[in-house]
Amino acid sequence: MRCLTCFSLKDCYAHSSQLFVNNISMANYSKILKADIANGKGFRTTIWFTGCDLNPHCRGCFNSSIWQPSTGKLFTSEVIEKILKTSKPYWCQGLSILGGEPTAKYNIEAVTELSKAFKNAYPDKNIWLWSGRTLEEIECLEHGKELLSTIDFLIDGRFEEDKKDLSLTWRRFK
Ligand code: SF4
Repeated sequence: MRCLTCFSLKDCYAHSSQLFVNNISMANYSKILKADIANGKGFRTTIWFTGCDLNPHCRGCFNSSIWQPSTGKLFTSEVIEKILKTSKPYWCQGLSILGGEPTAKYNIEAVTELSKAFKNAYPDKNIWLWSGRTLEEIECLEHGKELLSTIDFLIDGRFEEDKKDLSLTWRRFK
């Protein structure tokens, strides 16, 4: 167990309402990059959650190898701790969250917990999130509004292959 407010690993009586279990739902992730400069502005920590529940999937998806939610490693509170440590240096400007689909029903709770913990630890750093869902669709999901309240930049909507434009820096399609 870990407290989201003070990150104590022991029982936390001051913030007991914020305790959560060690394995955060059933979310998996494929990799974490330190000092990434390809996914967002400046040096960042980047994580890819696995599994995409959009049906049909986007034609030309660049990440079909992680469509299955069972791919990768289990996301736990230790992974949050690792991300917070990795992101501590002054030159790290924030956290980028990609997939797969971070808002899939098996991912969104874990993504929300990560995002809240990051904002709590680093209120001056920013969080970027890529989703195949639109803002309006995310708002309707359980945890959707809570997640959005922690996100600084949302790149939303299905990937449309016929509108692909590699000159667009973060979105890659018009
Ligand atoms: S939402 Fe993302 S991961 Fe899912 S099919 Fe579309 S581009 Fe691929």
